[in-house]
Amino acid sequence: MNSMYFTEEHQAFRESFRDFLHKEVVPYVDTWEKNGTIDRFIWNKFGEMGYFGLNSPEEYGGLNLDIFYTIIFLEELQKINSGGFAAAMWAHVYLAMTHVDKEGDDSIKKQYLAPSINGDKIGCLCITEPFGGSDVAGMRTTAVKKGNTYVINGSKTFITNGVYSDYLVVAAKTDTTSRNKGISIFMIDRDTIGVSATKLDKLGWKASDTAEIAFDNVIIPASNLLGEEGKGFPYIMSHFALERLVMGVNAHARAEYALEYAINYISERQAFGKSLDKFQALRHKVADMASEVEMCKEFNYSIAKRLKEGQYIVKEASMSKLLSTKMADSVINDCLQLLGGYGYMEEYPMARLLRDSRLGQIGGGTSEILREIIAKMVIDKKEYKPAT
Ligand SMILES: Cc1cc2nc3c(=O)[nH]c(=O)nc-3n(C[C@H](O)[C@H](O)[C@H](O)COP(=O)(O)OP(=O)(O)OC[C@H]3O[C@@H](n4cnc5c(N)ncnc54)[C@H](O)[C@@H]3O)c2cc1C
Repeated sequence: MNSMYFTEEHQAFRESFRDFLHKEVVPYVDTWEKNGTIDRFIWNKFGEMGYFGLNSPEEYGGLNLDIFYTIIFLEELQKINSGGFAAAMWAHVYLAMTHVDKEGDDSIKKQYLAPSINGDKIGCLCITEPFGGSDVAGMRTTAVKKGNTYVINGSKTFITNGVYSDYLVVAAKTDTTSRNKGISIFMIDRDTIGVSATKLDKLGWKASDTAEIAFDNVIIPASNLLGEEGKGFPYIMSHFALERLVMGVNAHARAEYALEYAINYISERQAFGKSLDKFQALRHKVADMASEVEMCKEFNYSIAKRLKEGQYIVKEASMSKLLSTKMADSVINDCLQLLGGYGYMEEYPMARLLRDSRLGQIGGGTSEILREIIAKMVIDKKEYKPAT
């Protein structure tokens, strides 16, 4: 335990959450990975335990705990080795629920945030479109105001929890003549007429459902607008800081898990009359990997602390995701090598880890887009400001 960031209470939470995962989730993970879906009962169990409300306000059933409980939640989820299961859980909380919490009014929060915290309602966040994900301002889905309703038309793709969620947090253009300033965010119930979803097949994250979603003349009440009309882009950008830190933390945690597994493996596996961990070439490889994991982990903790103090950490969160996801891919690839042929086998963890890890450099802002943001901040001295 790193006592600079974690207290005895944090540690107790880590242990009880780890026990919970091993008792309630691990026995089902392989089935969920195979079926490409997660049984509903576990959502309710997470809700009952309060895990979806760690950083949500108490008045809606949350626990309002500090960010290091979230860090523990994310780290332990990675260490049961189902990137898809972890993604389903954290996308619900840190993608969908964040918008409901930060931009929703009291009525929206009662309708969506409270049931999201107790596990009765699952959410997804729909930003990416088939025509492009990196260029958020170029989205084509429209929301046209008619009386006291909005009519939504368009499509979204690669949406985590896109098939099985109960509600969708959807970004759409309320002003098609404008780029950034024309985007607004809406709450849409799954069973609204005109909403349809198609499940996508993918390389990894097998347990999570990923969907293409179509909106065909979907009519919603005007009160389902989140926050102010035209403010969607700054809302999305504000929350990207947390989302990118989440993905950075996920990356250091899965790399750490891979490394711990590989170190244990090479201490037991014999070759040429001694265990693999006695070969200097492998020892140095492990030393390099341990250093890289530790550097990212410490960086991510320090950013989390700054976020806890209320600082706007958009540059650092972008750096965290950029470096941690790259490091995780590299470490997991090298750990797979340490297992030799067993690394390539499904009954060992590295194959799934490698597949799941690859998404890190794509989802939630590709590495190229992160470099663009960082370059603008460090070269052009551009400053991003929070919207809320
Ligand atoms: C499994 C999975 C789950 C996802 N979950 C969600 C979700 O829940 N909600 C959601 O809204 N989205 C989700 N996404 C979408 C994800 O955020 C996008 O895939 C990502 O933002 C990239 O968009 P794109 O796929 O359209 O690629 P594109 O934008 O078409 O980019 C293609 C390539 O071009 C590069 N590129 C683009 N523009 C530039 C530039 N200016 N400079 C340099 N290079 C550039 C990109 O880096 C990339 O390598 C998910 C994706 C996956 C695969």
